[in-house]
Amino acid sequence: MSERIVFPALLGNDRLRRVFAADAAAGKSAHAYVLEGPPGSGRHTAARLIAAASLCENRSDPSRPLPCGSCVSCRKILGGLSVDVLTVSRGERATLGVGEIRTVKETLYVTPNDGERKFYFIEDAHLMTVQAQNALLLSLEEPPPYVLFFLLCEDASLLLETIRSRAPVLRMERFQPDFIEEWLESRFPHPDRERLVTAAHLANGALGMAESLYRDGDEALENYRNASELVRLLLAGRRSETAAFASALPLQAKDRARLRQILTLARWALRDIIADKRGGTLLFYSAKDGLPAYAKKIPLRRCADLIAKLARAEEDIASNVTPSLVMTSLAANA
Ligand SMILES: [Zn+2]
Repeated sequence: MSERIVFPALLGNDRLRRVFAADAAAGKSAHAYVLEGPPGSGRHTAARLIAAASLCENRSDPSRPLPCGSCVSCRKILGGLSVDVLTVSRGERATLGVGEIRTVKETLYVTPNDGERKFYFIEDAHLMTVQAQNALLLSLEEPPPYVLFFLLCEDASLLLETIRSRAPVLRMERFQPDFIEEWLESRFPHPDRERLVTAAHLANGALGMAESLYRDGDEALENYRNASELVRLLLAGRRSETAAFASALPLQAKDRARLRQILTLARWALRDIIADKRGGTLLFYSAKDGLPAYAKKIPLRRCADLIAKLARAEEDIASNVTPSLVMTSLAANA
């Protein structure tokens, strides 16, 4: 018999699939899962699929995918229409505090409306205060049998060990830029190539992030272009042109984060030149298009030297040196 299709709507993530399928086959389910990954990596999608799978009316029919996606229960949960899916979020606040967790406690013993289970989606769980984590722990220790928690977070190591020991950590898969490029091509016919490469390379391995960068990433695209041009000028060794270009970059105090990103990207581009010679994976340039012609004959020592200078400039910006000074000195010394 062929293996059952689990989570048909999720790309990659074989480990998550295997863990969940094994739990389901053994008829057991954790009371909580930690789903870890960067924004746009599919944490919400995975949580919804696990929730739907646990209530799918066809869950014991191995000839159907899990979840089937077509029964009433699946349609409600996957369509975001189920009142038994409760989201806990921090709203505009910087942390997720005791107040938000209190709502979990208050509703925990209200039995599910539709099915046999109800679900809590705790967003930005890595931003829970220690007090909030301790408050949640009380609910995680002995939850009513129908409750399933999903702790969606960017970094599970920020959760208390006592929480992690009660909730298996499932890491969302990070995809390589060349895979993301292909995936974006399949979603956007006749894509804008430069935009697509930018989105694929700045997405931090997360498909959802790549998609939103492709749709709305005007600033990301401009940063990518600026980094690319900065590298071209640095490699050409034209100091006055580099200085003129650098002085036109965003150099206000409010632009610090942006300027750092441009410098980081430029460093990735130089690192790619080294990686390309050694058969490594490209982080900045598209594997499909390869390196630009001007980057191909640059000695590795020159790349390494520029990487160190860019890293130094990034540190200076982080430690509050005036951006225009940092860039003038970079252009003069590179
Ligand atoms: Zn179903």
